Amino acid sequence: MSGTEVKPRLVRCPGCGGDSVYATSNPYRPFCCERCKNLDIGAWAAEHFRVPAEAPPDEQPFGDPRLQ
Ligand SMILES: [Zn+2]
Repeated sequence: MSGTEVKPRLVRCPGCGGDSVYATSNPYRPFCCERCKNLDIGAWAAEHFRVPAEAPPDEQPFGDPRLQ
C-alpha cells in the first residue's frame, strides 16, 4: 500500500466539459486551458454587465394634452 502516491485530480472543465487537471501544474484550473478560462470569464461578464438594448417606452395613459 502506497501512501505517497499523488494522482492528479481530474475535474470537469466548466468551459468545454472535458477533463481538466486540478493541480498546481494547471494555472487555468478548474479549466483545462487558457482558452476555456477566457471564454468563461467572457460569459460571466456578459451576464453581469448586460444592459437593456432599448429603454422601455414611456407610457402616458393620461398624458395627451389634446384630450384635455
Ligand atoms: Zn476546457
